Formats: sequence, C-alpha cells, structure tokens
Amino acid sequence: MPSRAAAAAPPPLTEPVEDYLKAIYELETRTGAAATSDVALALNVAPASVTGMIRRLAAQGFVDHEPYRGVQLTPLGRRAALRTIRRHRILETYLTRVLGYPWDKVHDEAERLEHAASDDLIERMSAALGHPEADPHGAPIPTADGVVDERTHRTLADLDVGESAYMVRVSDKNPSLLRYLAEIALQPGALVTLVSKAPFDGPISLRIGDQEQAVGPSLAAQVHVEPVTAAQTREAVTSEGAAPERPRPRKK
Ligand SMILES: [Zn+2]
Repeated sequence: MPSRAAAAAPPPLTEPVEDYLKAIYELETRTGAAATSDVALALNVAPASVTGMIRRLAAQGFVDHEPYRGVQLTPLGRRAALRTIRRHRILETYLTRVLGYPWDKVHDEAERLEHAASDDLIERMSAALGHPEADPHGAPIPTADGVVDERTHRTLADLDVGESAYMVRVSDKNPSLLRYLAEIALQPGALVTLVSKAPFDGPISLRIGDQEQAVGPSLAAQVHVEPVTAAQTREAVTSEGAAPERPRPRKK
C-alpha cells in the first residue's frame, strides 16, 4: 500500500514529456493555441512523431487534442509545464547570480538541469536567492503552486519619442543578441529613453544611462519594456541622481 507522501507526490515525468508540455505552454502563451506543426517546429522533431506523442499525452490527461483546433493543456498539463518552467528559471537565476555565469550562457545549462534537479534542490536554490520573481532575462518565475504573472509588455519599438521605460524582458534563446544587449547595458531594470526614431523602419536612437545608442527596429521589437509612470518621472526629477523605483527590482 503506497504511503501518503508517495501518493501526494506527482509521478516523475520523462524528459521528452516535460519538453513537450513546456513547448505547448509557451506556444499557448504566445499565440493562444498550439498547432501540431508548431510543436514540431519548436522541438525540432518530425510532425509524425509529434502526433504520436500528443496522443500519449492526451491519454495521460495532460492535453486535449481536437482535430483542426490544435493542442491545449489541461489543468494537469499546465501545472506540469509550469513546474518545469519554474525549475528552468530558478536554475538560470542561480547560475547568473550565485555562480557568476553571463546571461547568454545559462539557457543551455538550464535546459539540461531542469530535468535532473530534485524539487528539494530547486526550493533550496529559490530560498537562497530570496525567492526571486523573475529570471535574468526578465521572465516571471512561476510559484511552487503554479501561479505566474504572464503579463505582456510593449517593446522598445512601440515607444514614442521622449518616452522613458524600464527594460523588463527579452527572450533567453538568442545568445548573440543577449551578449550585444549586455554590451550596451540594456538589461532588465535599465532605464531607457527614446531619443529619436527614423522613419520607414530606420534606426532608433536610445539613451541608456548616460550613453546614446542607435539600434535597429528588429532588435527594438524584441526588447520588452514597461513605460515609466508620471509619478516615477516626478520622483526622478526631484531626487537627482537616484533612480526611481523599478517595476521589478532585481540584482544583475
Ligand atoms: Zn532559458
């Protein structure tokens, strides 16, 4: 007869199952639906093997699959996906903050470790970090209970001339973009002001700290920001030199 603790713990999932659920979650969050072909593309596998795996995931109660409507996570599947995402993002935060990894080198490590680390290790890492709310790329870290703040943000490309904003988030999947952003000090928490914008998709001129920097529109569209509120601007003007409160304060 199984013990109470054994009955309460969720069954361990295989690495492919965790990767599928995570990919479906990310597609759902980004586009509202996950087509089988998009899942195949995201995981770089043949559509035929996706079909087989989705059938198994549906039989285990992780997804609902209706022809022509794509795949949808059930509450059980969503919970499992968020558990893997929590592990991934805590690992990235720990590698960056405690072990000094640069932010462009943590994603691949976390992709491997997210399947191997025990829940106990992850919770100890989270506690050691003071239970961070966002990872080094600004992605929200789901709580252990599966609550996550999936707000969408504007991007630098949407700012008006003269408008200021805090950098909040960028995808973790492009190391060369991350290296470049670190070079120009454009990381979560950085205060950015749009100085000018050339017409017809021309370059965008930004002030980041006391540096002026021109970036292309495709880069601008990938950098998510939260505009500074009028109250924050007033505070910045009255307390010279001191940065106003950040929307999501975190250490680098
Ligand atoms: Zn990552």
